Amino acid sequence: MVKHEIEKSFQILKSTVPLLLKYNISAIPTNYALWYTYVSNDSPKLNQDIDESLEKGYPLSSVKTKELYRNYLSEKEEVDAWQVRQSVEAMLLELSQSMKDTKSDTSEFKTVMDNRLDNLAKVEKEGLSVSEVMKLVRNMVNESQAIRQSTISFSGALLRAEKEIELLKTKLEESQQAALYDALTGLCNRRYFDSELESKLGIDVLSLMLIDIDHFKVINDTHGHQMGDLVLKSVAKKLQTGCRDDAQVFRYGGEEFVVLIPGANLQKARHIADVLRRSIEKISVKDRRTGKVLGDVTVSVGVAQKEKGESAGDFIERADKLLYQAKNLGRNRVMPIS
Ligand code: GH3
Ligand code: MG
Ligand code: MG
Repeated sequence: MVKHEIEKSFQILKSTVPLLLKYNISAIPTNYALWYTYVSNDSPKLNQDIDESLEKGYPLSSVKTKELYRNYLSEKEEVDAWQVRQSVEAMLLELSQSMKDTKSDTSEFKTVMDNRLDNLAKVEKEGLSVSEVMKLVRNMVNESQAIRQSTISFSGALLRAEKEIELLKTKLEESQQAALYDALTGLCNRRYFDSELESKLGIDVLSLMLIDIDHFKVINDTHGHQMGDLVLKSVAKKLQTGCRDDAQVFRYGGEEFVVLIPGANLQKARHIADVLRRSIEKISVKDRRTGKVLGDVTVSVGVAQKEKGESAGDFIERADKLLYQAKNLGRNRVMPIS
C-alpha cells in the first residue's frame, strides 16, 4: 500500500495514544477508534463534540463515549480499519524491538520508544482484524501506563507485553490474511478493492483498469489447473512489480485483476496499462510435467477515468465494457485506443 498513507495513519496513531494517556481514558476499542478519528480530524462534528466536553471539564464517561461512537463512527469504522491496522502493526513491530533493546529505566524506555516510533512508516506488512487491533492497542497502552507507574516491575511487564505481542501478531496475521488477501496470488482481494474504491471516489483524478487473461480456460484445459494457478501467480507478480507510486493491484476474481490509479488521467492510465500488457506477453511458465514452456500469456484491458459524480458501479461497468471491446477486437490489447 501507499507509503505516505501508512506514514499519515501512523502519525495519527502516534498522537492518539498520548491523548488516551493524557485524559486518562481507558483504551478500549471504541475509545481508541474515537480518538483516532479525533486526531485524524475526519469527522469535524465529532471533534466539536469532544472539544465541548473537554472545555467544560467533563470526563468522557462511558455513556458519553458510547453515544459519540454511535453518532459518528459506527459505520465509518470499517473503512478506516485498514489504516488503523497498518499503523498498529508498524507500531507493534517497533515497540517489540524497543522492548528488547531497553534497559529497566522508564525515561530511557520513553526516549527509545519515541525515537523508534519516528521511523515506522516503512513497514508495509498487513495486520489484524479491527477487534484484534483494538485489543493490541489496549494492551500496549496498559503496558505503557504500567511502565510509567512502576520502574520495579518494568522488566517483567515488558517481557509479558513482548510475549503477548508476538502471540497476537501470529494470530492476527492469519485472520487478516484471509479477510483482505487472495490466498493464491497474495494480492489484495475483491473485498479490499470494493472498500478502497469507495473510499477513493472523492479523488479528483482517478483511473482504473480491468485486466482479464486471454483464453485462460484453454491454458487450464491444455496444461492443467495447477499450471493455470502458476500463470495466475506470475501475472499477479508482473502487475505488482509493474505498478508504482499510488497504483494498487487487486485480484478481482478468477483470472481478472483490477488496478486502481489515483492521480492518473485516462491517457496516463492507458500508457501504464499498455506497459503492463507488454510485460505480461513476456511471461514464460514451465510445465514441470511435460517440460514444456508456456509462453503466450496475454491479457486484454479496459481502462476508464472516473467521471465527476460517477458511482463505483458505473465506473467499473465502463471499464468492463471497454474490456469486452478489447476481447472482441482480438484480445491482447488495451481499450480505448486513445
Ligand atoms: P477470454 O479470453 O474471453 O477471457 O477467455 P477465458 O477462457 O479467459 O475466459 P473464461 O471466463 O471462459 O474462463 C476463465 C477460466 O478461469 C474459467 C475458470 O475455470 C478459470 N479460473 C478461475 N479461477 C481460477 C483459479 O484460481 N485457478 C485456475 N487454474 N483457473 C481458474
Ligand atoms: Mg474473465
Ligand atoms: Mg479471460
